Amino acid sequence: MSTLRFRVVEAAFGKKAVDVATPAGKQSDYFASKVFNREKMFKYLSPKVFDKVEDSIENGTPLDMKTADAVAAGMQQWALANGATHYTHWFHPLTEGTAEKHDTFLDPDGKGGLIEKFSGKLLVQQEPDASSFPSGGIRNTFEARGYTAWDPSSPAFIVGDTLCIPTIFISYTGESLDYKAPLLKALESVNKAAVDVCHYFNPDVKKVYAYLGWEQEYFLVDEGLYAARPDLLLTGRTLMGHESSKNQQLEDHYFGAIPIRVLGFLKELEIEALKLGIPLKTRHNEVAPNQFEVAPIFEECNLSNDHNLLIMALMRNLARNHGFRVLLHEKPFKGINGSGKHNNWSLGTDTDILLMAPGQTPEDNLRFITFVVNVLKAVYRHNGLLKASIASASNAHRLGANEAPPAIISSFLGAQVSEVLEKLENTEVSEVIVGGKQGFKLDIPRIPELLLDNTDRNRTSPFAFTGNRFEFRAVGSEANCAAAMLVLNAAVAEQLKLFKHEVDTLIAAGKDTYAAIIEVIRKDIKESKAIHYDKNGYTDEWKAEAAARGLDCETSVPLIIDAYLRESSVKMFESTGVMTHIELKARNEVKWETYTKKVQIEARVLGDLAMNHIIPIATRYQSSLIDNVYKLRDLFPVDKAASMSVRNLEIIEDISNHISFIKEKVDEMVEARKVANKIESEREKAIAYHDTVFPMFDEIRYHIDKLELVVDDELWTLPKYRELLFVR
Ligand code: ADP
Ligand code: MG
Repeated sequence: MSTLRFRVVEAAFGKKAVDVATPAGKQSDYFASKVFNREKMFKYLSPKVFDKVEDSIENGTPLDMKTADAVAAGMQQWALANGATHYTHWFHPLTEGTAEKHDTFLDPDGKGGLIEKFSGKLLVQQEPDASSFPSGGIRNTFEARGYTAWDPSSPAFIVGDTLCIPTIFISYTGESLDYKAPLLKALESVNKAAVDVCHYFNPDVKKVYAYLGWEQEYFLVDEGLYAARPDLLLTGRTLMGHESSKNQQLEDHYFGAIPIRVLGFLKELEIEALKLGIPLKTRHNEVAPNQFEVAPIFEECNLSNDHNLLIMALMRNLARNHGFRVLLHEKPFKGINGSGKHNNWSLGTDTDILLMAPGQTPEDNLRFITFVVNVLKAVYRHNGLLKASIASASNAHRLGANEAPPAIISSFLGAQVSEVLEKLENTEVSEVIVGGKQGFKLDIPRIPELLLDNTDRNRTSPFAFTGNRFEFRAVGSEANCAAAMLVLNAAVAEQLKLFKHEVDTLIAAGKDTYAAIIEVIRKDIKESKAIHYDKNGYTDEWKAEAAARGLDCETSVPLIIDAYLRESSVKMFESTGVMTHIELKARNEVKWETYTKKVQIEARVLGDLAMNHIIPIATRYQSSLIDNVYKLRDLFPVDKAASMSVRNLEIIEDISNHISFIKEKVDEMVEARKVANKIESEREKAIAYHDTVFPMFDEIRYHIDKLELVVDDELWTLPKYRELLFVR
């Protein structure tokens, strides 16, 4: 082992678990202690102001400046009492991270001193000089104004010494420059559309919430080993590294005992997450070595998404207290599973009905089937767009690579629901009985039975029905869930509106309400059949069938992204009020540019490492072999020396072959980059990077990984997979 490698591996081996102090009281006692939630508002705001904020949270009613001032005063009082010195508007630019600019509460007191001050104006709106955030050309640098505006539906919280106020981020001309603004619009749109459809069954429903429960997968790597891998450090994934002889074959990691150092990290993460109001519930080892998952109890989608962004930031920070680095990249290591972020999604009413769950009566079940079929239809109509919503340079390594999920969106329903839909489709409307008597009764087992009978859970489906919700499994581990959630909720909103229009037309023509609903559902089941697939989604058979069914089978990320600008997508986004054509175009520019930059950075890192790590090391080892051959000739008769050198001569030649291939390909890759960089259009440039630069990664890597196998371990400086993945 090289000295550097030995040092970092030894240090990693020697690390002990860090002791984390347990806070006083039960977990539920300190839950949300750092959140300015309803309980704190009740305490710090007058009843009148409290009611106004409630109304703003529930119904989006704008707050007047006087109320905003009162909220700011209460919020500041709470924040100061909890040790905050700074405040920030916390937002989600199009970078897949969060952004914050901290200011103190300090203000001149007019007598030469300072006082803490926070006004409604500062709470409600700010104008960060935000010219360096991606905007896709909407906001030119010379007109750098962008606004952040308070989102009262997600409560403020304190991280460290800073009061964080969740905000949306929009341009001077009103276009959204973030993920939160369009997500909020999509949630509002699905709320309205779903309430209207609910009224066929439950006239008292006033609000429909979209729920999200994410499952965050990630890897942990020892910090020292990470620091010795420039590729991990700069790109989040290993661009080279031969598979370890043992990795996940024995299936001994999944649900195994959590390593003690990792438990220390998880304990601290859970404590801090709970204080921030993130209801973490589950932790376990995942399939790949060093891979883990955390999941909370599901929450309203906007809040849940804020919590996911917050937990990713928390994980990155806290892991370092335990000598780890968190890898959120979708595919940090070749040959073992990558990481995703299953988005469990459902709709529920203010009257506590889960709309994706079967009910007790045939009427409830008709409502259940209505929503399930509308979701299917929405997913069918926008399957290419949904794939675009999860597509990124890093998630591309998972898509279609024989692990969850395939690069084709389809939906799994399971035997029970499939059977009901099939029967419904083949039964005359007049025979479907919703209120007793003869005919086809909508008898669907209740959720617990469905959940118990989970034998047909299909892990290969990107969009699976799981008893009372759909699980969108294609979302990447590093992604902002909002990208996927805003498309899904908007698509469902559009479909529910179309559905209602069709049903109302039949009712106006004299049809009974339930008969009208059943008629439209039967038509929709037929029309959206292509999206329903319960078998193994990883097979070549499915790829062929999906293409024949007309589903989107594109695998190139720059082309997948085109789906955002399809006529049907633009119409959907505009009719639901979620995004305009201009916003969509701008966002696509950002997506293509990001794709290019990510591949560009990887290409540079790979080229550098190949030239200044791998080739020099391989050459050094080769020289020692050549030296050996010459020395044997000095010591032994020519024939004997020749026969003794056969093996080394072979290795010498092998090394030369690998080196010349690597050098040749790295040169070619640099040339391909130069050609691509000259292209003006972001889309064409991304396509060039995808088609001409990216394919060389694996070719170069193949030869590097072969060298790793033959070169003296004592010379190899980069920590190997067996060390990265098994030292904890
Ligand atoms: P599994 O790995 O078996 O899919 P987990 O327990 O890891 O399940 O995660 C399931 C996630 O789904 C949790 O966040 C849970 O709160 C969430 N969930 C459960 N029911 C719903 C629902 N009706 N709507 C949205 N999310 C839900
Ligand atoms: Mg899980």
